[in-house]
Amino acid sequence: MDSRIGFGWDSHAFKPGVPLRIGGMGLDHPEGLAGHSDGDVLLHAITDAILGSVAAGDIGSFFPPGDPRWKNADSAIFLNLALEELSHAGYTLVNLDATLVLAAPKISPIAGDIRARVADLLNLPIDRVSIKAKTPEGLNLDHVAQCHAVVLVERAQPEEKLKSISDVIESQRQLEDVVEDLLSSVHGFPKRIVKPGFDTEDIT
Ligand code: MG
Repeated sequence: MDSRIGFGWDSHAFKPGVPLRIGGMGLDHPEGLAGHSDGDVLLHAITDAILGSVAAGDIGSFFPPGDPRWKNADSAIFLNLALEELSHAGYTLVNLDATLVLAAPKISPIAGDIRARVADLLNLPIDRVSIKAKTPEGLNLDHVAQCHAVVLVERAQPEEKLKSISDVIESQRQLEDVVEDLLSSVHGFPKRIVKPGFDTEDIT
């Protein structure tokens, strides 16, 4: 099995008057996370973990902080780009484990909602998504939210690729049958017969 891991980390300072978004969800809190985008520290760490797993750079290399296109952007955009890079490299996501570190708000009452939202964004079953939260004891960082994220990825299964190829071939055959029926009915063109394991030949 060709597996890899990826690690991501991010931090954002709290700022009054900014909406707080964590894991693609809006949270009720007097302060949000300052940032060029929506400041979603969890989605940024996951994005970097996924990009890191296939050595595809980091979030800043795809979305420079000074670029006006990403001002107040929904961080799900960044996550989707990372998933596309993962797929392009021929890998699929197996599971995520993430740890938020912040003094407030308390995450435990909404941890299940955040977990479900992140599982949805990653297109993973919920039992493959872990979202944990801790307070920054002894770090004197109560004004900052941090997040650590680890992902496991594995090479896409060859049988999945073969199935998609065979589906395309089958679709093409069905299309050919329709065209042949049409030509035959309109112009009286002869139909082909296909012998299993042999080449197509015309009926004369
Ligand atoms: Mg960030």
